[in-house]
Amino acid sequence: MSKNKKILAAEKKHLADVSRVKYFDLVIDHGKGAIVTDADGRDYIDLLASASATNTGHSHPKVVAAITAQAQKLIQYTPAYFANTTTAQLAERLTKLTPGDFEKQVVFGNSGSDANDAMIKFARAYTGRSYIVSFTGAYHGSTYGAISLSGVSLNMTRKIGPLLPDIVKVPYPDQTQRLAGESDEAFSLRLFAAFKLPFDTYLPADEVAMVIIEPIQGDGGIVKAPQKYMELVYEFTRQHHIVFAVDEVNQGLGRTGKMWSIDHFGIAPDLLSMGKSIASGLPLSAVVGRRDMMASLAAPANVYTTAGNPVTAAAALATLDVIADEALVARSAELGQRAQAFFEQAAQKYPFIGDVRMYGLNGGIDIVDAQGQPDVDATTKIIYRLFELGVIMISLRGNVLRFQPPLVITLDQLAMAFEKITQTFEALLAGNL
Ligand code: PLP
Repeated sequence: MSKNKKILAAEKKHLADVSRVKYFDLVIDHGKGAIVTDADGRDYIDLLASASATNTGHSHPKVVAAITAQAQKLIQYTPAYFANTTTAQLAERLTKLTPGDFEKQVVFGNSGSDANDAMIKFARAYTGRSYIVSFTGAYHGSTYGAISLSGVSLNMTRKIGPLLPDIVKVPYPDQTQRLAGESDEAFSLRLFAAFKLPFDTYLPADEVAMVIIEPIQGDGGIVKAPQKYMELVYEFTRQHHIVFAVDEVNQGLGRTGKMWSIDHFGIAPDLLSMGKSIASGLPLSAVVGRRDMMASLAAPANVYTTAGNPVTAAAALATLDVIADEALVARSAELGQRAQAFFEQAAQKYPFIGDVRMYGLNGGIDIVDAQGQPDVDATTKIIYRLFELGVIMISLRGNVLRFQPPLVITLDQLAMAFEKITQTFEALLAGNL
């Protein structure tokens, strides 16, 4: 039996099933850049980047050095009681990194989920209102607040109710739902009417605290809201003094070819949550927001013992240096164009490829049957064959190939991944999967 299989078999006895979405039998032992190596010593090109949590690649030497140096100096003193030199620097840096020419403050967390919970708290406290509007297809995390905002999978909320009250879900302006011949403008207006429907019927706008949106949905299938729609929603929040919050946990930090996915729209949100890649995968998250909103809560309404831990803060400072020094945002945009060209060409050739969406090194590729309907079975076959060929790729919403490599992936590694993907598509076309 392989080491991978042995470790998994032993782990299965102890690890609760709920902890992992099942894919292939892989035990990762180590990683470098865009390559990870399993317990049996086999290499894989990583097209998942730990769910967009390692934009700087695995174990980037500068991040490792910063973590090591900080760990030798101080591993932890809770920022909940006293400042430490490293975390203090990060707070300042993050307020400058996020859009908006207004005074901002930061709060730290341990996960994207608790950052989104914090935004619920701030918005409710600041406005004195309780309703929150979120979107179908959204994934905001796994804590009670974040799960209540989410709308991506039934499994998330089954058996654990009641959830947080006063959350209203409206349809995400998923451009794959555009009608034939429908313009950007017409689609935006149609979906904005759907956004307004609750307000026009039962939801008084002056009782709504916050609209929270992923400007580009990650787990929802890498789908981007149209410009006009986003402007209309933003404008609506201005008219009704509703907090406009964006979740950048998945799509932030260069993933989409801009620093933040909201930068594609030229809008400065009131609150912004980040996590995952901010500390190159160490458990750190943050909310950056308008100073007056952040001042609406008093300690200890949102403190966690390890939130803003100095080791994670050192990792974050080094991560931000790497993103700047290696121009990873521009790299994401540039390599994303190559990836888009590759998948669009493949779509010409292979009838099972439907819509291709690519925003930076960040893509959703729909796999469809002869009727153009989602083909989950074919998608599963593709990702398993890719695994056999040494490529890690998983799916979103059943039939979407999720393409999110570390932004440091080399041109050779990218070319190799494309070669293996082509091999796999050929095999599916020939009925050999
Ligand atoms: N928000 C988005 C958009 C995410 O994609 C995720 C995780 O996938 C989260 C929040 C939750 O982050 P975490 O898993 O760190 O709690």
